[in-house]
This record gives sequence, structure tokens and C-alpha cells, in this order.
Amino acid sequence: MHLFNYGEIRTPAFEETAMFSRSIGELTDIVAKEMYSFTDRGGTNLTLKPEMTASVMRAYIQNNLGEQQPLVKLYYIAPMFRQERPQAGRLRQFHQFGAEAVGGQHAAIDAEIIALACEVYSNLKIRNFVLKLNSVGCERCRPQYKQLLTRYLEKVRDRLSEDSRRRLEENPLRILDSKDEADRMLTRDAPLMKDHLCAECAAHFAELQEHLKLLGIPFGVDGRIVRGLDYYTKTAFEIISMDLGSQDALAGGGRYDLLVKELGGKDTPAVGFAAGMERLLMVMEKQKIVPPGGGHPLVFLAAADEEGRKWVIRTAMGLCRRGFACELDLLGRSLKAQMREADRQQASFVIAVGADELKRNQASIKNMRSGEQRSVDLRNLAAELAKLGDGP
Ligand code: AMP
Repeated sequence: MHLFNYGEIRTPAFEETAMFSRSIGELTDIVAKEMYSFTDRGGTNLTLKPEMTASVMRAYIQNNLGEQQPLVKLYYIAPMFRQERPQAGRLRQFHQFGAEAVGGQHAAIDAEIIALACEVYSNLKIRNFVLKLNSVGCERCRPQYKQLLTRYLEKVRDRLSEDSRRRLEENPLRILDSKDEADRMLTRDAPLMKDHLCAECAAHFAELQEHLKLLGIPFGVDGRIVRGLDYYTKTAFEIISMDLGSQDALAGGGRYDLLVKELGGKDTPAVGFAAGMERLLMVMEKQKIVPPGGGHPLVFLAAADEEGRKWVIRTAMGLCRRGFACELDLLGRSLKAQMREADRQQASFVIAVGADELKRNQASIKNMRSGEQRSVDLRNLAAELAKLGDGP
């Protein structure tokens, strides 16, 4: 996020319920069924945040963030709460990371947001993820299309699933992304928004695709990506992983040009994405990807005797300050037990030091992966570690 020049934003764990229902939409699943809402002692109705975009936009307006710069780029990592039926990849408290770029219309910004999301996965060396792209139009072209879709769906109403029949009045677009097999068959030839965009939305969608090509980001256009929240306009996208079960979305996002105004701010276009952290971890586990840093120390400093112990304590602090992750024994264990511990901690290197080594200022360092040993100068350990190639 920092590489793309996004700054962190943290918002409260709960906010006024009305703020969420207004921005996410009264008829969405989140607001209608999933929010953890409660009344506090002062009689205010509050909700644990089910997603971040609404909160970020509320904070943007309240703190006049738009006055400081024309395009405000923010990211977050935070817990979210939704009362859903728990299953693999669907939790009631889960974590999202995401980003929002507020203040610009241009498709280049949509492309940057999408590139940023994809870059997180590429950077972690995630394989087999797919970017699906759509445009859900705007307040000018969507109403007409909605009528067209409703007319089409009315003809098959009796054969639609119960959920979809309910959505027919409220939010017919959502029927297009129904997981129900019969619904999918019935909507196979349904009209899609992307084929009924106004000139402005069509141009924006074409430009976005140009930009993604420029960035070398592969994508597929999927007219059924509609997203579950009401505030989207133009761009909508999802990133799907083949290594997740039925809950296969790693991330989703899009443009929401009307939200800031809807929440009482100035007319301000914006675009963003949100990604599930637990789902990312599920994929990493499946693809046997160790998180960078991995939580393993680079070097385990073992002490052979009392003199060695003092050296280890001092040296560990010095190495940490220079950016090398190290571990040492704090339980007074024997040298043999320390070596076992170094192994268990999956340290990349181990160095054992006692009075003898200190006298010579030389000790041997063992590469735990290859088993190879070499002699190092104890007075210059940081430089020696950097030479070993696994440095900070
Ligand atoms: P949404 O805004 O609902 O599309 O959520 C964005 C991303 O957050 C999804 O693509 C998932 O990766 C993740 N996510 C959403 N709901 C849950 C949940 N209940 N449990 C775990 N992850 C979730």
C-alpha cells in the first residue's frame, strides 16, 4: 500500500447504524440481515462495521480530507462483523484489507486500484487468481436497463428461486449473480448492463480496459459481476481464486461516484476495493506459500557458556537494531537444547559462541537449510550476515 502511496486510515469499531444503512443500502443482504446492531445507554443505535467504505467516506467528509489534496488515497486493515451463516471462508468476525481513492473520475484511478489489489496477490506469489471485470452503469443508464432486465425476469418469475423472486422487486441485478443452478440457467440469455451502458459509462469502461492492458494485468469481462452493495456505479470487479470453495471471492470492489454526496458531502467520485484476509490465508495454506518474513528468525544466537550468554544478549539487541531478526535462549537451556530450539524455530542460521570463540573473535555459523558451516568474524557479525544473503 505504501509503495502505491496510499496512507493508512483507522476508523472506529462501531458507528451509527443509519450511516451504514444509508450508504450500503436498506435492501442489501448486509443491512437487511447481517449487521450487528445494538442500542447504547444513551439510546443511540450503533452497528459494528460490516465493511469499511462507508466509514472511510464518513471520515473523509467529517475531516474535510478533500481540501488538502484533490485525490485522497487511503488504505486499511481492520476487523469486520457480519451475522452470516458461518462456513469455510465465511466468518462472523473477519478481516479485510482494502484501499480507496477518493476525488477522481478517470479510469486510470480504477486501473490503479485494481492493479494494487492484484499486486498484493502477485507479490505474495499467489497462483491461479482471476480478475473479473464489469460495469454496472450509472444513475442515467441503469434505470432503463433495470426495466429491461425486470421485463425479462418477469417471464420466468415462477421458476426462479425464492431468494431471486424476492430480489425481483428490490434489486433484480443481484439475480444475475445467484449461485442457484436453476437461476443461472434461467438468466443465461438475460440482458446484461455492460451491453446497455450510456456513452459516458461505455467510454469509461473501454478506457479502463485499455489501462489494464497497458499495465499488463489480465482480466475477463463478466457481465454478471454486480456486487452486493447498492453504492456502485460504473466499474465493478472481483478477484476469484480457484483454490477456494464456494466462497471463491478473494476481493471485490468498484466505483461509487454517488456515495460521498449521499452521505452529505460534496459531489465526489471514488473507487476502491476490499479483500478478505482469512480467504487469502486459506489460499496461501493451500498453495503452501509461507508469508514473507515467515515469523522465523534469520539467526539463532546460541550460548555455549556464561561468557557466551552475555555476548549473545548484547549482540542480539545490536543485530535487531540493524534489522536482522534474531532469537536467543532466555530459559537457561543447555547448548544441545538451544540447537534443538533453533531447529524448531526454523532459524536460517545458527551461531554458537562461548569463551573460546570470544577469545579468537571467530565462530562458525551454520546454514540450517544446507548444513554448510563457515567461520565468521564476531566483531563484524552484521556485515557477515548481510553477506550471507538473507539480510534485512
Ligand atoms: P464484500 O465487500 O462483501 O465483497 O467483501 C470483500 C471481501 O471480503 C470478499 O471478497 C471476501 O474475501 C471477504 N469477506 C466478505 N465477507 C466475509 C466473511 N463473512 N468472512 C470472511 N471473509 C469475508
